[in-house]
Amino acid sequence: MEILIAEPSGFCFGVKRSIDMVEKAIAEKKPNIQIFGPIVHNPQQIKALEDKGVKMVNSIEEIQPGTVFIRAHGISPKVFQQLKSKQEVELIDATCPFVKVEQENAKKLSEESYQVIIIGEKNHPEALGAQGFAEGSIIIGTVEEARALKEVPKIGVVVQTTLEPEAVDKIVAELYHKAKEIRVYNTICQSTKMRQPAARNIAEKADLMIVVGGKNSGNTRRLAEVCSRIKPTHHIETAVELKKEWFKGVSKVGISAGASTPDFIINEVVNAIKNMDSDHVK
Ligand code: SF4
Repeated sequence: MEILIAEPSGFCFGVKRSIDMVEKAIAEKKPNIQIFGPIVHNPQQIKALEDKGVKMVNSIEEIQPGTVFIRAHGISPKVFQQLKSKQEVELIDATCPFVKVEQENAKKLSEESYQVIIIGEKNHPEALGAQGFAEGSIIIGTVEEARALKEVPKIGVVVQTTLEPEAVDKIVAELYHKAKEIRVYNTICQSTKMRQPAARNIAEKADLMIVVGGKNSGNTRRLAEVCSRIKPTHHIETAVELKKEWFKGVSKVGISAGASTPDFIINEVVNAIKNMDSDHVK
């Protein structure tokens, strides 16, 4: 069986940067390293960091004196100030620079009196963080939600960095009916722009697609959606989820992985597929 791996697959620039920053802090023996919210949407990578003594904290109240990381998804200015006011805490900002562009554009549009619309997932930390930069901003994720908006004089748009461009185009087209003036900052990041077409390209060539990454990872779920429109696709987190029956009659299997999927997980999946007799494949 031939295995085709989409390039890029696995850690994007922003996730790699944030993990490297935490690894550096571990190597420097910084005290009591805590990450505010899951640093990546990947349970295996989080466990790997927890095994090295790093703690994940989900609320300001849980934070103890020591070192606190802001994850790649970023946070709102209000939460930033709350973290900064914590005593005996060194705050390290690992927000991805592409997310910062989204946040800055949301702020700029708000200051220029645009009704800011964030095209994104309502409960995603990145969209919620960006929302905090623009008072009164609204997160929408579908054409129907765009259609339901009231008309306003000026609409300003920023986009969650990992969305599918084609889906965003449709929402923006609907927004044109809602204001006389509309300004759009396309803040989909370069990693997303490359990853989705690469996955699509491999899906065209393969008989079956395996998409690897956290079930809680929005960008991995979207990769699986993109691939499933082309070929039968399975979204798995680890090699143990592979099933032999999926591979019957398959001569080419394609692999793509989300921006938060570590290389060691991708390698385990590739090796398990290569050794279909191993215990990994049930
Ligand atoms: S997906 Fe893009 S914006 Fe998000 S962390 Fe990765 S590089 Fe940054």
